Amino acid sequence: MPIVEFETATGQHILINARREATSIFVDQKLTLNYDREGRLYSAWMDGRNYRRGLDNRVLEKQEGPRPGLSYRVRRELGPYEARQFLADAYARVVEYAAALNDPATRVVSNSSSGDAQTVRAALERVLACDLAQLERDRAIFNIIYKPINILPPDQYLALVLQATEGCSHNQCAFCGFYRDRKFHVKSLDEFKNHIRDVRAFFGGGICLRKTIFLADANALIIPQAQLLPLFDAINTEFAIHPIHCEGDALREWEAARPIHFEGIYSFIDAFTTRRKTARDFAELATRGLKRVYIGLETGDAELLRFLGKPNAPEDVIRLVGDVKAGGVAVAVIVLVGAGGEKYAAQHVRHTVNLINALPLAQTDLIYFSELVDHPRSDYSALLHEANIRPLTIGEIEHQMTLMRAGFRFANFDAAPKVSYYDVREFIY
Ligand code: SF4
Repeated sequence: MPIVEFETATGQHILINARREATSIFVDQKLTLNYDREGRLYSAWMDGRNYRRGLDNRVLEKQEGPRPGLSYRVRRELGPYEARQFLADAYARVVEYAAALNDPATRVVSNSSSGDAQTVRAALERVLACDLAQLERDRAIFNIIYKPINILPPDQYLALVLQATEGCSHNQCAFCGFYRDRKFHVKSLDEFKNHIRDVRAFFGGGICLRKTIFLADANALIIPQAQLLPLFDAINTEFAIHPIHCEGDALREWEAARPIHFEGIYSFIDAFTTRRKTARDFAELATRGLKRVYIGLETGDAELLRFLGKPNAPEDVIRLVGDVKAGGVAVAVIVLVGAGGEKYAAQHVRHTVNLINALPLAQTDLIYFSELVDHPRSDYSALLHEANIRPLTIGEIEHQMTLMRAGFRFANFDAAPKVSYYDVREFIY
């Protein structure tokens, strides 16, 4: 890993790590800047705050909240002027660090080889070849290639997104406003191939940062199997994806022969699809790289599901998870904490715990707690107001997660699925 560590004439301690997929700059343990191989800033850490830049040049700031607990975290999208200033500063700093590296008064601290120093200089040049004007051009192209990418699961934030569909086939859940701006559309094979070509050209060298492929939008796997398989084949023609059942040394050898590769294909799926896929269908997709599907369970309570406008019964999720797992694909089950406010709180906890405990989950699976966030385009507030229901406080939502966690009973505790937090406010692509 080419690393150069140096101390500037003014006493700043700087470490630059130039990996193939990204360049990271660490300054005095107070500042971190991360750029992809095309020199695009994608994340930063400054003064105890985390920043993520989206490909549309929006910047999200995140910091610890007034109390411990994930729901208390403070997130904020920088205004357009502030975001511009932030990006200008992030690039101006690199000009300064690159000059310091070439300054004879700088003291090199690490024992880096001349090859490492050269690699680091080349990485800095790539960052410096990118500037605000370039990022603006990127934004314009990004907005042509993609419909807005409003949400991905937290373990997929750095996925390479391919939109096989646009929007959601249902688009009526009361709490969800992600796709209200577009009609559901399934891309033809030709459209999808063109999309892949455009995506590839747009990311350029920055594709190295992406380790997985996410097939979007909301419910891409709703596409009938005969139409879906050629789309998966098109992805496999274009990208190297970990072969099924390949592990250990064999996998390392496979990866070494393919410097740009992906761990697998991931996608959302809903339990209400009428063209339900069978275990065999999932097995066919698994051989083409499908690794995990993300299922919006929301709640195990049938009455609350109806209240939320979700058109499936809780048992549909049990059937779906059984078929997915029998096909050799992992699942992530998403629970909507806080859903239904005070009125539904007790039954939401009880029935969700029972349903989760009825699922054949294993270590490769995930359970996400996603706090219900009132989306500006959703109908949720009006629904609560009409039904005279009090929303839960942050403290009550935290308590609901604690109760659910305490109720989970996994057959094999050592091989239990990971339980994690999913905050839609922290997403930016
Ligand atoms: S929650 Fe899922 S199914 Fe419901 S509208 Fe949103 S994307 Fe569609």
